[in-house]
Amino acid sequence: MAKPKAPRQTLDSYTVKRINKTIKAGDCVLMRPPEPSKPSYVAKIEKIEADSRGANVKVHIRWYYRPEESIGGRRQFHGSKELFLSDHYDVQSADTIEGKCTVHSFKSYTKLDAVGNEDYFCRFDYSSTTGAFNPDRVAVYCKCEMPYNPDDLMVQCESCTDWFHPACIEMTAEEAKKLDHFFCESCSSEDQKLQSSQSTSKFAETKVDTKRRRR
Ligand SMILES: [Zn+2]
Ligand SMILES: [Zn+2]
Repeated sequence: MAKPKAPRQTLDSYTVKRINKTIKAGDCVLMRPPEPSKPSYVAKIEKIEADSRGANVKVHIRWYYRPEESIGGRRQFHGSKELFLSDHYDVQSADTIEGKCTVHSFKSYTKLDAVGNEDYFCRFDYSSTTGAFNPDRVAVYCKCEMPYNPDDLMVQCESCTDWFHPACIEMTAEEAKKLDHFFCESCSSEDQKLQSSQSTSKFAETKVDTKRRRR
């Protein structure tokens, strides 16, 4: 016969004394990996629970996977701070929490002025059993037709608005950063035809954006 379980209570928040940080449901946290050589695990807290005395605090979590932990492994377009929100739920002791972190949406991550150690981003949900991603399609850019890796510098064509890797258009990163205007190969040939009939440019503002680079 199993012993009746001691009644548990749900906590609104809990202060992890070792790091002096207060956690609550919805927070993203770094958790101690079983091997110290590995990077911290990242999880989203769903619920915090304690026994009737407020001790033995456990967190119900949903794991974030790093690209290398996914079935398909890390791909070229995966950012160094990219995480996948998995369908893998778990219960862990609150003592394994090493710190708090922020998992940004892809859009807000690309708008950060500086990426700190605790900044991550997530653009895919991930099934840990099938290895499937949601969404299963993502916009591709450049001649190489790759999804955008926010760690990479890209330049935007002022005409078609597609983004290009400097290397794919035979340019160095330094050259790309100095560009005031950029027209891709296919647009520059079309542009010459257009120029005779259209004198005013449709794209007056500078569209060359040296996308944010990770420090
Ligand atoms: Zn490319
Ligand atoms: Zn173009």
